[in-house]
Amino acid sequence: MDKTTSKIYCEVLVIGAGIAGLMAGRHLHARHKTVTLVDCEERVGGRILTEHIGGGWADTGAQFFTAREPAFQAFVDAWLAEGLIFPWSSGWSDGSTGEPAKESFPRYAAKSGMTALPRHLAQDLNIHKAVTIEHVAIENEGWTAVARSGEIYQSRALILTSPVPQSLALLAAGDVLLADADQAALQKIAYAPGITAVCHVKGQVNLPEPGAIQRPDYRISWIADNQRKGVSPRVTLITLQTNPDYSRLWWLSPDQELQGALRRELQPYLDPKATIEEIYLHRWPYALPTTLHPERTLMAANLPPLAFAGDAFHGPRIEGAALSGLAAAEAILPHL
Ligand SMILES: Cc1cc2nc3c(=O)[nH]c(=O)nc-3n(C[C@H](O)[C@H](O)[C@H](O)COP(=O)(O)OP(=O)(O)OC[C@H]3O[C@@H](n4cnc5c(N)ncnc54)[C@H](O)[C@@H]3O)c2cc1C
Repeated sequence: MDKTTSKIYCEVLVIGAGIAGLMAGRHLHARHKTVTLVDCEERVGGRILTEHIGGGWADTGAQFFTAREPAFQAFVDAWLAEGLIFPWSSGWSDGSTGEPAKESFPRYAAKSGMTALPRHLAQDLNIHKAVTIEHVAIENEGWTAVARSGEIYQSRALILTSPVPQSLALLAAGDVLLADADQAALQKIAYAPGITAVCHVKGQVNLPEPGAIQRPDYRISWIADNQRKGVSPRVTLITLQTNPDYSRLWWLSPDQELQGALRRELQPYLDPKATIEEIYLHRWPYALPTTLHPERTLMAANLPPLAFAGDAFHGPRIEGAALSGLAAAEAILPHL
């Protein structure tokens, strides 16, 4: 590969432009810090993803989000006021009766697909997409991050929002030694894989209001109709998600076998005349954290400013990741 050696300087480098990295980046940018985000994908959002499939659109990562904490509710209220998101449901049926679920707390989704949320947050930020960082090292009381494509990023402070095993690998590759207690705490964090399938259906699909069911203990833990959600106006695309055990069981199986199993899982919800035209698969190696760090961020001891953030810190999922990104930015600020 043709390697260039361009150098990019900033006060804070954020690795990962998922919701944690974006929230951290916005917080620092609003406080007039020079901040650069890098992401190995050609898009922002990480595990929040809306994909173009079978002539329509489907959410293949996160499906919705909650706002249990006032700090996050304030952002959600602003996004509601801007017309970016909508309250999709106040509870999910498990599909056993065909009746809607009992009302509990609101679940929100972005209009026209979940990707709209990270895209909105990315506005005004300096984000380098399709940049894979291969290692990070300490240099001149700050940080150097080297990308596969040759760019070198130099910063005073670093925020790592990649899934924690990946963040630890980046540090190890740059010979960075964490304090024993930090290393031990970070090594406790674990994730489960997840598999998303999107079925392109011709014909009627029967799911209770608002077109989704959730059953965490069942092998297919989530089924949702992207058309009824408003993501795919013209094409019926049904998202299925496998639970962690079922994901592990099928992780290495040939696509065709897995597609056959998922086809059988969806069949009970289809009208007799409906057909499944194609099934698209997306495997997520770090879908959901299963062991979390108790704090919202971990500020590394005895090193130049380095904060870890993401959905494995204190609270999982979109809400937890967003609040973790904010906490990491707050922890970094006094060091700039
Ligand atoms: C299938 C699925 C369904 C889900 N459903 C829900 C749901 O309904 N509700 C909910 O609240 N949550 C849900 N979640 C969880 C939610 O998506 C995550 O908790 C949240 O998006 C995590 O955000 P994050 O910023 O911590 O991590 P990520 O979104 O994973 O962001 C990390 C980023 O780092 C980048 N990166 C990694 N390594 C490097 C590198 N070396 N160089 C450069 N960039 C790198 C990645 O490309 C990625 O963009 C779901 C997740 C999955 C996978």
